[in-house]
Amino acid sequence: QIVTRFAPSPTGFLHIGGARTALFNWLFAKHHGGKMLLRIEDTDQARSTQEAVDAILDGMSWLGLDWDGDPVSQVARVENHKAAVEQMLANGTAYRCYCTPEELDEMREKARAESRPPRYDGTWRDRDASEAPAGIDPVVRLKAPQTGETVVDDMVQGRVVIPNKDLDDLVLIRSDGTPTYMLAVVVDDHDMGITHIIRGVDHLTNAARQTLIFQALGWDVPKMAHIPLIHGPDGAKLSKRHGATGAEAYRALGYLPQAMRNYLVRLGWSHGDEEFFSIEDMVKLFSFDSVGQSASRFDFKKLENLNGHYMRSTEDKELLGHWKACLAHVEGGDTVLAWMADGTNEATVLTALPGLKERAKTLVELTESASYLWRTRPLECDEKAKKVLDESALAILSDLTSILDGVADWSAEPLEVAVKAYAEQKEIKLGKVAQPLRAALTGRGTSPGIYDVLVALGREESLGRIADQAS
Ligand code: GLU
Repeated sequence: QIVTRFAPSPTGFLHIGGARTALFNWLFAKHHGGKMLLRIEDTDQARSTQEAVDAILDGMSWLGLDWDGDPVSQVARVENHKAAVEQMLANGTAYRCYCTPEELDEMREKARAESRPPRYDGTWRDRDASEAPAGIDPVVRLKAPQTGETVVDDMVQGRVVIPNKDLDDLVLIRSDGTPTYMLAVVVDDHDMGITHIIRGVDHLTNAARQTLIFQALGWDVPKMAHIPLIHGPDGAKLSKRHGATGAEAYRALGYLPQAMRNYLVRLGWSHGDEEFFSIEDMVKLFSFDSVGQSASRFDFKKLENLNGHYMRSTEDKELLGHWKACLAHVEGGDTVLAWMADGTNEATVLTALPGLKERAKTLVELTESASYLWRTRPLECDEKAKKVLDESALAILSDLTSILDGVADWSAEPLEVAVKAYAEQKEIKLGKVAQPLRAALTGRGTSPGIYDVLVALGREESLGRIADQAS
């Protein structure tokens, strides 16, 4: 059985790149009927917070990326990490190193002077512990092979060969007795039964080092896939200055999880020229054969268009659910949620939704265009609406009050017929009638279709709003 893992460090929110890594792990596991485990890499206690763990889990849940079993805490597994090192000390693939900080500084200095990367010189590789100086807490190092090469047969990067002379005897246990990250990852991946390691290509050099540790422990090396990074539209590493970099920030910006998933999977993976993938299609089609090596560029416009597509094609009730989730994460959203909590109001929203969602690219735009629904009388008008409502407009509104009241069937078609007949009779352009009507009904210069607005507000509220302005 295939077992993958997503292994975030809980030092912030779920980064876009992390979300895509999680998605690829999830898809690969699902495609093969396997499992995806979650490991929280919290060994850096100073930087890891519970808040960050929660944010990561929340982001994953929002994206619909579930994991198997309970999340595994790396720091809780310290004893396993240490036990593995005891095994290595016993089989001679690790050794204690008693170098003083000064000696290590000297090595670094020397490397700098010779302009080569600093490397541990192997002082303690073959020395006996009986030679150990007093008062030094040793570190434990990997006794890495000094000749030959280490091969990472990567599902994305291909066959990556690293000469062993470039990999020095890395530290496994620090002098304070704590395991290093490099060691912990290997022991955890082994103990968790991970068959496939899928992560960002920035971990490729770690992959070679970790391979050496797996081998020293006599363990099978998992298969690996190192996926290209995500860049901003300008080709530089994706950062805050490009836009939001946290997955959950996109929820507050009004994106749908299905759009986000679709967008993320296309960042690196392709299937012909196809753009839209349901989650089922993704699971069915996903393979590392179609993941390229070059970095992908995050295209905000494309994401927005994709989101518009999903807004239109998502069924109203489901869309409302996502909309509420978005509102729960935006400022002022709670007032709208409270209003929607009323059954009649929710019904009104559902009536208006088909028209509203045609135009909105995000749920935030949807909130804006629907906001006329929950504005309270008398409406506060924006600048554009105020300009529209001049003297002649008010006269038109006052005519319309009785005309609209005379429409027996309060639905879009008869209302349109009545308004058009009025404009014709008065010989004024339809826009001259529609604009004041819009301003009075919504308090805005732009709004969804005016007849939809009338229907959504209903007779009483519509006439009330018109009368508020006309009087
Ligand atoms: N914790 C690492 C990170 O967040 C991932 C390590 C791994 O996947 O092996 O970048």
